[in-house]
Order: sequence, then C-alpha cells, then structure tokens
Amino acid sequence: MTAVDSACNYWVDSAGEPDVWPVAEGRHDADVVIVGGGFTGLWTAYYLTTLRPELAVTVLEAETVGHGASGRNGGWAIGNLAGLERLIGDLDRTARHAICAQLADNVDEIGRVTAREAIDADFHKGGTLDAAARYPQQVAMQKAHRDALIELGHAPEDCVWLDGPALAERAAFRDGYGAVFFRHTASVHPMKLVLGLARVLAQRGVAISEHSRVRYLAPHHVITTNGAQFNARHIVQATEGYSECLAGLGRRVLSVRSLVIATEPLSEAVWARVGLGDRPTFCDASRVINYGHRSRDGRLVFGARGAYPLGGTPKQDHAITPAEIEMRRRLLLDLFPGLPEDLVVTHGWGGSLGLSRRFRPHAIVDPHTGLATAGGYAGEGVAASHLMGRTTAELIVGEDTPRTRAPWAHADAAIDQVLARWEPEPLRWLAAQTISASYGAEESLLRRGCDGALTRSVMRANDGFAAIIE
Ligand SMILES: Cc1cc2nc3c(=O)[nH]c(=O)nc-3n(C[C@H](O)[C@H](O)[C@H](O)COP(=O)(O)OP(=O)(O)OC[C@H]3O[C@@H](n4cnc5c(N)ncnc54)[C@H](O)[C@@H]3O)c2cc1C
Repeated sequence: MTAVDSACNYWVDSAGEPDVWPVAEGRHDADVVIVGGGFTGLWTAYYLTTLRPELAVTVLEAETVGHGASGRNGGWAIGNLAGLERLIGDLDRTARHAICAQLADNVDEIGRVTAREAIDADFHKGGTLDAAARYPQQVAMQKAHRDALIELGHAPEDCVWLDGPALAERAAFRDGYGAVFFRHTASVHPMKLVLGLARVLAQRGVAISEHSRVRYLAPHHVITTNGAQFNARHIVQATEGYSECLAGLGRRVLSVRSLVIATEPLSEAVWARVGLGDRPTFCDASRVINYGHRSRDGRLVFGARGAYPLGGTPKQDHAITPAEIEMRRRLLLDLFPGLPEDLVVTHGWGGSLGLSRRFRPHAIVDPHTGLATAGGYAGEGVAASHLMGRTTAELIVGEDTPRTRAPWAHADAAIDQVLARWEPEPLRWLAAQTISASYGAEESLLRRGCDGALTRSVMRANDGFAAIIE
C-alpha cells in the first residue's frame, strides 16, 4: 500500500523546524567562502572554525541547507570509501592498515562530534549487514568481497562472514545465504545532522545564507544570482551531485539519481519477524543496490536502483512517482518475508549524488588560485564528506595531519589536474544503459534459478563493470 504520491522526504518531515538563514546581499570580504550547504560544506566550515576560530567563513546555499543529497540520503555513515582500492591499492600493507583505521575512526568521530556539540542526529553504530547473498551463486562473490576488504587493510574481526543461520539471527532476509558483517558503519538521521551542524556553525559566527545561488565563481571571487559579491582568499566548491550551474566542476562530477522510501513505524510483532534488532544498516548483493536501515522510530528506510539521467545534470525536483514507490515497496516485501503484504509507505523522495570520472573521492586545495573542492563520493558520502571536509579545512590552514597526507588529499594541485573530464554524451548515457541492462540480466537469471554458462559469463562481465565503477 502506498500512502504518498509525491516528493515527501521523511528526514525533512521528522527533523523539526529548520532555522531560516538570510539571503546573501551586498559586497563582503571573507577568509573562506563555501559554496554548498550540505555535509561537505558544513564540515569544512566546522573544522575551519575549530582550527582557526578567528577566520571569517561564509556558506552560500542555493536552496536551503540540506537541500542536496545530505538531507535526502539513506543515512548510512560508512567506515570505508567508494573507490578505496583505486586510492590505496598501491600502498604497502602498513599504510593501507593505517588508512583503514582512519576510515573506521572517521565514523566514531562523527559520533563524538555530535555528542560534544549536542546534535541529536540519531547516531547509532550498529554495523552493516553488507551485501547479503540472496542466491547461492552470490556466496562466493561475497566471500571474495570480505577477503578484498581485509586485503585492503580492514581488520578481519571487523569484517565477519555470517553464514545463513548466523545471518538469520540478525535479519530475516528471504533466502539469506550469508553476508559480511562490517562493524564500522553507523546510521544517522541526516537532516538532523545537517540542521544541527548549521546551528553550531552559526553559534561560532559562520555566516550562512540560503536561497543564495552562486552564478559566477572565479579565484577569490563569487557572485550570487541576486548580485551579492564576495571576495575571499579561498573559495570551496562543495556542490557534489548538484554542480550543474557552475563552470568549475562542469563535466568532472556527474549527477546520478537515487530514490528512497520510508514505511510507517512497524509494530514490535513485525520487527520480531524481520529482525534488525541492533539496527544495523543492510544491503543485498544485488548489483543494482538495495539498501536500508531501521530508523530510530521503527520505520524501514529503503533505497534502491538509482539511474543516470541523460546529460548527468541533477534534478532539483525530487518528486518520485507512485510507480517508483510501489516498485521499491515490492522489493522490500521480497527482501523481508516477515513484512505484511499491506505494508504502508508514508514517504518517497529522490536526490542526486556525484560521481567523479576516476571513481574516487577527493579533497583539493589549489594554493595558487585559492580554489578548493571536495566530493566524488559515489553514493557513499555521509561519512566520507566528514573526512573530506575535515581534510579540506586542514589543507586550507596548512595543517599536517594523517588526512592531509592521505591519497585523497591534493594540497598543491589545480582542480582540473586532479579531476578528469567525463566523456561527452551520449557515450556516458549509453555506457550507463549497457551496465544497467547487464546488471538487470544477472538479476533476472539468478531469480529464475539459472546456473549455467550464460549466468556465469554475465556475472563475470558484471564483476568487470563493478571493478571499474565501485
Ligand atoms: C538518495 C540518496 C541516498 C544516499 N544514501 C547514502 C547513504 O546511505 N550513505 C552514504 O554514505 N551516502 C549516501 N548518499 C550520498 C551522500 O548523501 C552524498 O555523497 C553527500 O550527502 C554529499 O554531500 P555534499 O555536501 O558533498 O553534497 P550535497 O549534500 O548534495 O550538497 C550540495 C549543495 O550544493 C548546493 N549548490 C549547488 N549549486 C550551488 C550553487 N551554484 N550555489 C550555491 N549552492 C549550490 C545544493 O543546493 C546542495 O545543497 C546518498 C545520496 C542520495 C542522493
């Protein structure tokens, strides 16, 4: 059953009354101007003012704080990075271990900051049931995934293989053949985190402006659509999957659409059948990504099956159709047989995430132009944006930390040198269609119980695609 038919974001609905920040007007000087009021922009401002409280920092947001992916994601804060293999695969074992320890601590640090700053963002570290195998053919793939995590540098005790019965004790998936339990993942209420962070920044004297879209961005200078002008030593572009209007990132960070639903709060009797007692986040081994978690107020928040729009520009309209909601509701019913057939969905919404051409996150500060940017999280940006925002702030003030020495940090490079351009359309769209058709074919073969040469070769081809884009 679907009780909602348009854009209705559960996180916005349940975050309480947001503060309202003024529209930027007039001419101003600042030390740092940050374009984009999502996690990346806000964390950058948070660490700038932590490290150098005397800095004049301004955040300019085109819509309202949290309008982008930060206010509309699945709420997973993951102690890993999309593209980690590409970032650290060449490092020696000790260095890889040190990076993975940083990534684990990054999640804990979000918990520590929210506690210290009294931001009630429902932070809960319940780990994740990573890529539950729903078909026997996926078991080997998922065990290899666990081996790869450990080879990369994560501790074996943090990546535990659960076989079918052990998995069933934590979550009652239909046909759950096994999953990796990855300890370093927390769930958060992303909108409460965004709003709480903005409040803390305002108390520190950061100037936040909403409905202040930057239309011109150049070294040391930005202009908003209504003519407000800022001169600053550093300009940080933190627009990720919403980078459409600014020349700076153009074809370097592409927008991919992702859709999420939330159910009504479920009864204890239903939860007894579904499991997820310690509120771990979960996803299944499907290539098209079905993921979710149990919210603090007992709902299932569930995202599935993003899509690449021709042109790769973000949608500002986040409406989701009844058919899109119903498709995700059906996927959820298929995933958990303990859910009632008349499961009510109360919220459904979409958002845009950013994909960089080299499929890895980055924090770049160009000392020659004062321009900086961070992003490229590929759908795993809740914790990564904290890490990249912190790194960006440290690079700007010239701190030497484990983060500024990490491979995602670029302290002395032009943005164009680090971020490659995507191929022109329709090549990108055709590639996305091919990959998504191939992923769909695998799903359908597995569902039909096919186990022959065709299934194996489609899975091998998809392993290849996944190695390129994950
Ligand atoms: C549906 C969905 C589900 C997701 N689920 C997860 C998840 O569970 N776990 C996870 O780790 N990651 C997830 N992600 C990814 C994660 O949410 C993002 O990577 C992260 O929030 C990016 O933060 P950001 O601050 O860099 O960008 P955003 O939050 O997108 O912020 C960019 C901001 O820039 C503003 N902006 C754009 N242009 C201008 C301009 N010209 N002037 C001023 N402001 C401008 C936009 O309005 C926007 O508010 C998900 C993303 C989506 C869309």
